[in-house]
Amino acid sequence: MGKFEQQTSEEKNLTDLLGDLKRTDYCGNLDSKDISREVTLFGWVSRRRDLGGLIFVEMRDRQGTVQVVFNSELNRAVHEKAQGLRSEYVIAVVGRVSLRPEGTANPKLKTGQIEVSASELRIFNASQNPPFPIEDEEQVAENVRLKYRYLDLRRPKLQQNLILRHRVAQEVRKYFDRLGFLEIETPMLTKSTPEGARDYLVPSRLNPGHFYALPQSPQLFKQILMIAGFDRYFQIVRCFRDEDLRSDRQPEFTQIDVEMSFVQVGDVQRIMEGLMVHIFKETKGIDLQIPFPSMSYIEAMERYGVDKPDIRFGMELVDVSGIFRHSNFKVFQEVLGKGGTVKALCVKGCTSFSRKEIDELTTFVAAYGAKGLLWARVGVDGWQSPVQKYLTPEEMGEVERKLAAAKDDLLLFIADTSKVANQALGNLRLHLGEKLHLIPDLYRFVWIVDFPLLEYDETEKRYVAVHHPFTAPRDEDIPKLKEAPGEVKAKAYDLVLNGNEIGGGSIRNHLREIQSLVFEKLGMGEEEARERFGFLLEALEYGTPPHGGIAFGFDRLNMILSASDSIRDVIAFPKTQKAICLMTDAPSRVDPRQLEELSIRIKSGVATNKAEGTGDRA
Ligand code: ASP
Repeated sequence: MGKFEQQTSEEKNLTDLLGDLKRTDYCGNLDSKDISREVTLFGWVSRRRDLGGLIFVEMRDRQGTVQVVFNSELNRAVHEKAQGLRSEYVIAVVGRVSLRPEGTANPKLKTGQIEVSASELRIFNASQNPPFPIEDEEQVAENVRLKYRYLDLRRPKLQQNLILRHRVAQEVRKYFDRLGFLEIETPMLTKSTPEGARDYLVPSRLNPGHFYALPQSPQLFKQILMIAGFDRYFQIVRCFRDEDLRSDRQPEFTQIDVEMSFVQVGDVQRIMEGLMVHIFKETKGIDLQIPFPSMSYIEAMERYGVDKPDIRFGMELVDVSGIFRHSNFKVFQEVLGKGGTVKALCVKGCTSFSRKEIDELTTFVAAYGAKGLLWARVGVDGWQSPVQKYLTPEEMGEVERKLAAAKDDLLLFIADTSKVANQALGNLRLHLGEKLHLIPDLYRFVWIVDFPLLEYDETEKRYVAVHHPFTAPRDEDIPKLKEAPGEVKAKAYDLVLNGNEIGGGSIRNHLREIQSLVFEKLGMGEEEARERFGFLLEALEYGTPPHGGIAFGFDRLNMILSASDSIRDVIAFPKTQKAICLMTDAPSRVDPRQLEELSIRIKSGVATNKAEGTGDRA
């Protein structure tokens, strides 16, 4: 059938299809209180069932769907016209709301008690047969979804996600406004601010050979706003980082960015806890308990192996190095001799794992650099384990005590550097938590504090900032900054929710000397510091209040609130893991004249073919 065959000649006149029609309701908002009302609805055909004299159309708009009935006995012409409706046609329906006949209600649908009996139908536009059904349950390859994002976004789940995102943004604004925070925009074309990633650069036509950087965050601008006296700032702001992408990262993402003057760590934390309470209450009706617990970075690493622990379940990592200090087992001897550790976790009552499944766990930890995974199953007559013959009964007994192990528990050990052991076991813990359904459906927040200020980077052969270079050291550690920079702790804090780092910030260096000293420890000479951050160093000399702040991952927060698996499901137009927009095909080649104007030449031999696909899941 031709695209517009079902439209009347009047409807083909694209300029005047609406005529006198005005929407009275959204489809998804109707319910039994509307019975007997005449309504005018605009929306898309979600599904059509033709039962001869009766045609049922599920009609969809952003609020949901409603059933429309076309009855040949009641209105022949309209019924006939409805025969031509197909999926994704855009229509207007005028009709009366009635209770569905007994036995035909659909309890799963919000509008499932009622239906709309159509007296008028207008077809605004036909549609090609969509490449995938617009339904939530459909498993569609993500690169197809992203190419036809306008169709993908019609799916109820994504509509709800973006509506929720809007709500969250409004609540953020309400909350901060009430507390006297000012929303101030900061530039997108700016000078590079380091947040540990590569910059996106924008060439300047007016200044050939010079580049702007897209902001990795508004860090320095918000600090300058404090120096300028604004006292409390926030912004829902786009940030750009050119780094390797994972399911919870995008090249451009949104932060709730905050900065406050005359504050200490606890002040920033209390304000942000209040924000979480407000958002969860207003958008999900959930009451959160505050203050959130705090845990030091070291404790998080020791107990969970990661700096963003999921504290919804136990199965914590236990250091058993002490027990094996004098072990005859070669593997342990060697690792401990080189200053490594032996860490273990105890999987309670785990009788179900086959040898094959245990072998798979070894492959899992190998991805985190672990050379091996030792296992033991606790039985009534001792352990069943490939290494049991190398261990003494005392050692095994002590391990059981330390891990509170009982019969049928599976013990897993990694002997390696503490970095590898933590990473591998920490991630294994999460993997097993999911696989064995140990993670309850709760929201558990935890502040991670007492991070080191600097850490030594073996490849760069220098100290690098754990957060960013503007983070203040703890006052009591300032004397150590000169002699033992690696031991200095920072006035920094991360907020972790269910194993996701959703926010991070710090108190800043408001004293010029301290800031200069930190730059120096980062291996930045006077001149380089002046070249890169001269404006900040200068501003610090003109009356800088003590200040601090935080930034929240707005996308991640929405991902968690909407129970989505990926931040791509809460961003209207996300990019793939290869940083490509499959709908618009950005990035793309540009006209040689544009390059000429920018004084840019593409090096000969540069491969200009783009990668394809989403990169992670097809
Ligand atoms: N600018 C930091 C970030 O984007 C957050 C902060 O320190 O406020 O991670």
